[in-house]
Amino acid sequence: MIEHKINGKTAVYGILGESVENSLSPIIHNAAFIFMEANSVYLPFHISSGGLKDALRGLSEIGVKGFNVTIPFKEKIMPYLDRISKEAHKIGSVNTVKLEEGSYVGYNTDHMGFIESLRRKGFDPNRKRCTIIGAGGAARSSIYQLILNGADTILIVNRNFGNAEKVTEDFERKMKFDSKLMPMGLDQKNVEKMIMGTDLVVNATPVGMKGYEPQFNMMNRWFRQGMITFDMVYGPGKTPFVEASISNGCVSIDGLEMLIYQAAEAFKIWTDDNPPIDEMRRAAKEGVGCKKDG
Ligand code: NAP
Repeated sequence: MIEHKINGKTAVYGILGESVENSLSPIIHNAAFIFMEANSVYLPFHISSGGLKDALRGLSEIGVKGFNVTIPFKEKIMPYLDRISKEAHKIGSVNTVKLEEGSYVGYNTDHMGFIESLRRKGFDPNRKRCTIIGAGGAARSSIYQLILNGADTILIVNRNFGNAEKVTEDFERKMKFDSKLMPMGLDQKNVEKMIMGTDLVVNATPVGMKGYEPQFNMMNRWFRQGMITFDMVYGPGKTPFVEASISNGCVSIDGLEMLIYQAAEAFKIWTDDNPPIDEMRRAAKEGVGCKKDG
């Protein structure tokens, strides 16, 4: 195995979030840097929710070349960045930042990870009825791709109905499209029937990760044979969402491939090089096996 050398010229990258101790991103990106023999390192940056602005000033001052952004900062970081890519602006969420000529520029690669995972399972959203559970940054990334790929209907089902409405309004204001967006509350009367009538159900909430209890107790009434389900949360074993959907006859995808592809796209943005995707997948699979929780 090639050694990871750190010296005075090492470029620093990282992940910025409130709770990043279980993140697989350092494992995936350091494996990629070592494989490419790049003089670069990727570190976890734990930031408190009130400390985002100061943290960004600090990262810029010490010349951090790029970083990923995770819960709860993907939307909150946008006003503090110098520039935002067109796609990230439309989506309303940034998960990748690059230092470009002294300025921090925000990108979104989650949406690419999402669509690549669906393609690998042979699912084409064109004219399909889709459900997204959640209305945060991850939900926005998937809705963006479903719109681009011509989904017929997109039910946006969220705990807080107002946030589902806000996502709908934002997309309708920023983009022109034919897909019908339908915001719903998770506790709305006919929501289970509506979800069951769709072809794809995506969990874009942290439910299933440790610390995000309770599970969705009505989940078994969402799924039916022939559906595709997609949980953005991942292993080590099957998540409750994946488990419940498989036992109801669905084909299910967990969030690991999405994680690998969004990381590969971030690597490409930072280095202008082709990402070593097989090595990144190998590291992610090894890492998820060691992780204590989702
Ligand atoms: P976020 O912006 O904080 O949004 C969280 C969403 O989940 C909101 O809609 C929130 O509803 C809902 N939610 C939170 N706790 C809930 C609960 N206990 N019950 C029901 N709904 C709940 O987070 P995010 O960035 O979108 O990330 C969401 C999940 O996707 C995380 O687990 C993240 O790790 C995962 N993710 C995975 C990948 C991947 O590559 N696999 C990429 C991106 C994200 P309210 O609006 O009501 O608060």
